[in-house]
This record gives sequence, structure tokens and C-alpha cells, in this order.
Amino acid sequence: MNNSIKIALAGNPNAGKTTLFNALTGSRQHVGNYPGVTVEKKEGVRKHNNQKLRITDLPGTYSLTAYSVEELVARNFLVNEKPDVVVNIVDASNLERNLYLTTQFMELGVPIVIALNMIDVATKRGITIDTDKLRNILKVPIVPIVARTGTGVEQLLDAVLQTADSTKKQTQIQLSYGEDLDLVLDDIVPQIQENNLLTDTYPARWTGIKLLENDEQIQEKATKQNQKLCNDLVARSAEVAEHLHATLDVYPESIIADHRYGYIKSILRQGIIAHKMDSTRLYTSDKIDKIVTHRLMGPIIMAMVLFGMYTFTFNYSELPVSWLEAFFEFLSQRVNTLLPEGPLKSMLISGVIDGVGGVLGFVPIIMFMFFGISILEDSGYLARVAFMMDRVFRTFGLHGSSVMPFIISGGIAGGCAVPGVMATRTLRSQKERMATLLTAPFMNCGAKLPVIALIITAFFSDNKALYMFFATVAAWLVALLAAKFLRMTVLRGESTPFVMELPPYRFPTLQGLLIHTWERTWQYIKKAGTVILAISILLWALMTFPALPENQIQQFETKRQEITSKLQEPKTKTASNKENLQKPQSKELTAALLQIEQEQAEQTLRHSIAGKIGTKIESVSSLAGFDWRTNIALLGGIAAKEVIISTLGTAYSLGKVDAEEFSSLKDKLIADPKWNPVVALSVLSFIMFYAPCFVTVVCIAKESGTWKWALFSIIFNTSFAFILSVIIYQGSKALNLI
Ligand code: GDP
Ligand code: MG
Repeated sequence: MNNSIKIALAGNPNAGKTTLFNALTGSRQHVGNYPGVTVEKKEGVRKHNNQKLRITDLPGTYSLTAYSVEELVARNFLVNEKPDVVVNIVDASNLERNLYLTTQFMELGVPIVIALNMIDVATKRGITIDTDKLRNILKVPIVPIVARTGTGVEQLLDAVLQTADSTKKQTQIQLSYGEDLDLVLDDIVPQIQENNLLTDTYPARWTGIKLLENDEQIQEKATKQNQKLCNDLVARSAEVAEHLHATLDVYPESIIADHRYGYIKSILRQGIIAHKMDSTRLYTSDKIDKIVTHRLMGPIIMAMVLFGMYTFTFNYSELPVSWLEAFFEFLSQRVNTLLPEGPLKSMLISGVIDGVGGVLGFVPIIMFMFFGISILEDSGYLARVAFMMDRVFRTFGLHGSSVMPFIISGGIAGGCAVPGVMATRTLRSQKERMATLLTAPFMNCGAKLPVIALIITAFFSDNKALYMFFATVAAWLVALLAAKFLRMTVLRGESTPFVMELPPYRFPTLQGLLIHTWERTWQYIKKAGTVILAISILLWALMTFPALPENQIQQFETKRQEITSKLQEPKTKTASNKENLQKPQSKELTAALLQIEQEQAEQTLRHSIAGKIGTKIESVSSLAGFDWRTNIALLGGIAAKEVIISTLGTAYSLGKVDAEEFSSLKDKLIADPKWNPVVALSVLSFIMFYAPCFVTVVCIAKESGTWKWALFSIIFNTSFAFILSVIIYQGSKALNLI
């Protein structure tokens, strides 16, 4: 017997669900994925009156249609998991809009308790709500709370326990949807009931409404259970839809929505809400918006805010980044001196420390970046950015809500495409969502940044900031053009209007900021400790094995001995030689030794599996100016962009890898005859635009629901990047630039 009570938190985005969740559960939260779809699920426990409560934070939704992933997840949870009580969080300062979702819970017949949140905001705006009256009309427990301070939470839990205990079946409301639809419902609902169509999951009337709304998920489920009946019902719905469209130029969905709003209005009109102030008065948020989203001022302010965040991130993270770098260098030197020469040492230094250290070295930047983004997000400003960008994005077939995924993926600097791809969930149109999630990986994520920085410092050091700016602009340009291309070809379709609500401005709480920042940073660290670690070791192995055959090693050994013996020879004959003649000679010999050392290292790398692959594709890659060693690094980058640098480092550290030499990968590239500014530009643009890293690809597959799109993104991006690099390289050659 499981005697804990199952509770779900549900409500509109920004109603304060997460705040309430944190207030209820403290930090003992568990973040998981909903089975089948990757929308994060937060779970936590709370004890109240000796009763254990298991609480789940559902994704924020405005409705319970099947248009977006969040809505599907929320309603699937409600019908499949059958929580004992659904706590419906309602923003008291936006009662009318928030109650829209509430009516749907009541239509679905789930047991709800309304948490009337943000009472403080409402009060500040001069809004008072007659809770008792509303409770009597809706016949649902209502508890006013302020989630941010925890006020009313205990009373809320009391009401939750009462509802969980009560045996009384939840009142299920039946709304009227106007003559036409009511007639059809009267016809089809009894049929649904008689045939028990989905009745173990949904109330019959709900199924009927969903069929009228043309809800694909319900249609699919119903067809599976009883195809003939479902076909009849769908035909009946289509008939009335056509009639409505012909006579009133509307679809059933909008009539249903209108009637729900009408129902809410009729309740609120019964003196539920009292405004103390003149309602024409502009609220502070609206006043701020007058300036912040102004046609001219808006973009200027936006540029300044973003630039400020950029400066903040890079200035303040410099120091901790250098600490981490010093730490990993120290670690690497320690291992170097403590361990004997051999594969274990080589693996620890080249595989583990370089690979994972390279990634963890970026943690401070990521953390500051996410902190800045959290401020923009929690304060409500990011929604304005999306609002302003909507105009620009629309011309490229995207949506204002595409801005966030782009920024998170690294649109400003140093993000990650994985959360970026996940952030596309807020897009309602599937095609706009696909176009966004396929192009977001073009942004300069945190893992590409060090490579970009390396190449810029090596070959374009005259104006680093400017080239970095170019790299950012180029990323946006390519992403937008690619989106346009996709929307004109494989993802052709209507664009959807921008319906995003502009939430009122709020002062972010420090706790909220820290939680947001930490959640995102932790994901990044976890990646370094798991995926990157595994890939680094794998790459190290591929670049080390198979070892050179014994006889070849022997040959190098013989050559070396020849030189060493020469080095010692003159010593025996010093008698006749002057001292100063001897020095240049031995210097030459040392150089010869180093030469052999390098030759052997090159042969060893060429002989390894990675070396063989790199050499094989050189015939194609040379079109873009990439040599075999660069190929190895680029292939490694498909696994994770983070490893490009360390792989280049290993591939170009011919000869002994000591700490000093390692730090000058830049100088090695400059000195290498195969590299020059044109090659650098070609490699740079390839790295910026080729296949997303492995984790992103998996994420694309999960989010799009099919591996087809994941495969598409690999092929599409890589072909595009390669063609671009070939144009850069061959074009420069034709112009005699190299
Ligand atoms: P969610 O989208 O429903 O998870 O909403 P959040 O929990 O992220 O809250 C959205 C914003 O509202 C955050 O900035 C919260 O700090 C703020 N917030 C939440 N509850 C309250 C409240 O009771 N009063 C005030 N003033 N702000 C609140
Ligand atoms: Mg939330």
C-alpha cells in the first residue's frame, strides 16, 4: 500500500508554479523526463500533518489542447497518472486569462484546489478578489497565497488534504457551446458513452468536445479502440465544422474557446473583482514597455543590454577561468612527474585531463552567462526581446519565440545547443519549431568558442573583438538564411501569430536566479564528467592504437643511436678541436634528434586508427584545405566540439608533449606550412557550421520524435559547411591569395 498522496502543480506559464514548488519541497527536488517526451518533470516530497505528499511540477500551459508538447504532457499526466489532487495555480493579477485553464480542468473533471497566487501583486495594483464568492460559484476550494514568501502555503496544504480525503466526486462542469455545437454534442456524447469509447480515461463529454476541436491525439486513440464509431463521429464533427465555416466563417475550436471565456466573464462580472484604481491607469510594466519596446529605442536598449551581459560574463569569468586552467595544468604536470612513461600516463594526460579539463575550464563562463540570462528571463525582459525580434524573424519564416532557443544555443556568446533545442518547446507550430531547432545549432556555443578564439588569436590577431563580432553575426546570418531555406522547402507552411504574453516586469529573486543558474551549469558539468570523458578516452585510444610495428620503432631507435654516438664521438677527439666549434655541432645533432622524434610521432599518429581515417579523407578534405590532422580533430568534434582543441593539440604535438609546448598550439599552427589565414578561415567556418555535436543530435531526435531529422541535421549542416569552406579555400586560391 502506498499511502502517499499524489499532487500535480498545474497552471499558466509564469503563474508561479516553480516558485510554489520550491517553497513546498525546498531543495529536495528531483528532475526527470516525462516518459516518451523530453519535457522536464520536477518531483519532490513534502510532509504535512504526517501525510506524505508527492508533488509533480507540470509544464506551464494556457490550455489543454494537443497543439504543444507541454499541453500534451500536462493532460497525459492528468489522465494517466490520475493525481489525487491537482493544485491549479492562478495568477490573481490576471484572473480572467488564468481561469481559462481552470475551466478545462473542471470540464475534464479532475479534483482541483485553486492556489490564488500573487495576491501581493494584485493588491499593489489595487485589485481585490472576493475569494469566498468565487469559491461558492466555482464550488472548488480556493486558497489565496503568495508563493514567493510562502504565505498561505500551510492553508493550501490543508485544503489539499481535505480534497484528497473527501469521497465526494469532483463536480464536473458542462458548458454550453452554442446551439450548433450543443446539438452535435447531444448526439455524439451518448454514443461515446454507450460504446465506452475511451471512457476509462476521459469523461464522454470531454472526448466529444475534443473530437469537435479536431484533436489529433484523441482521434488516434479513439480510432485504435473503435475505428468505425470514431470515423462516424469524426465525420459528424467535420460536418458541423464545415457548416460553421460556411455560415459564420469560424471553426468549432474558436467557438468553444469563446464560450469558455464567456463563462469566465459571466462569473467574474458577479462582483468578484474590484479595482480600487482607475483601470485606464498605466501599470508600471506598461510604462516601462512604452520605452523598452519602442520601435527605435527598443533595439538600441536591447543591444546595450546584451552587450552589457557579454561584458559582464567575460570580465568576471576571466579570473576563475585562469584558476581552473592553472589547476588542470598543475594536475597534468603532477601526473607527468608522478607516473612512469606508458599508456596509463598518456591516457590520463591526453585523454582525461586535457579532454575534461578543457570543458570544465569553461564552467565559470557558462555560469556567468546563465546567470545573466536568468536575470533577463526572470525579470521578464527576455519576453520583450522575443517580441521585438518577432518582426525580423518572421521574414525568415521563424517566430518571436525562436529568439530564446537561438540565444541559449550561443546567439550572444557561449551557450549550448542542447538546452537551446529543448527551449523550442515553447513554439506552438511544429514547422516553426523544427526550423528553429534545426538552425539553433549554427550558433557559437560555448564549446566552439575556444576554437574560434584560438584561430582568431593565431591568424587574425590584429582585431580580435571585431573578428569575434563577425563570427557572431555570421552565425545569425547563416542560421536565419538556413531557416528561410528550410521554410521554403522541407518545412513549407503558414506562420503562426505571435501570441506570447508579455509578463509584467518583476525583480528577480536571488534564490530563483541561483537555482536557474545552477540547474543549467550542473547539466554542463555532468556532460563533462560523462559524455566528454568517454569521448576523450575513446579519441585518445583511436589516436594511440595500433602502435607502430616493432621493426619501425627499431628503425627510429637505430637512427637515434647513430646520432647519439656522433654526439659523443667528438668528445673523444676534443683534444685537437677548439671548444667553441663543438657547440654548434651538438646543437645541430640535437635538432636532428628532435626531427627523428617528430617523424616517429607523426608515423605513430598516421599508423593509428584515427590517423588512417584522417589520411583517407584527406583527398576530399584537401579541397577545403584541411590536412589529415585537422580531419582527426574535426571528426572528434562530431562527438563533442569541446574535443576539437585538445585533439588538434595532440595531433600537432609531434614529439614530446611537455606542458610548455602544449600551450603553444597557436604557434604550432602558425608555423605549420599547411596552415595560413585562408585555411584558418576555411576551418573556422567549417567548425562553426558543420554537424551538431552528438548530444545535440540525440536531442534533436528526441525533440522531433524521429531520427530522420537528426540524420538530416548532420548531413545538411556538414554539406553546407563543407561547400562554404571549399568556396572560401578554392576562391582564395583562384584569387591568388595563397
Ligand atoms: P512558473 O512559470 O509558473 O514556474 O512561474 P515561476 O515560479 O517561475 O514564477 C514566475 C515569476 O513570478 C518569478 O519571477 C517569481 O519570482 C514570481 N512570483 C511567483 N510567485 C509570486 C508571488 O506570489 N508574488 C510575486 N510578487 N511574485 C511571484
Ligand atoms: Mg517554471
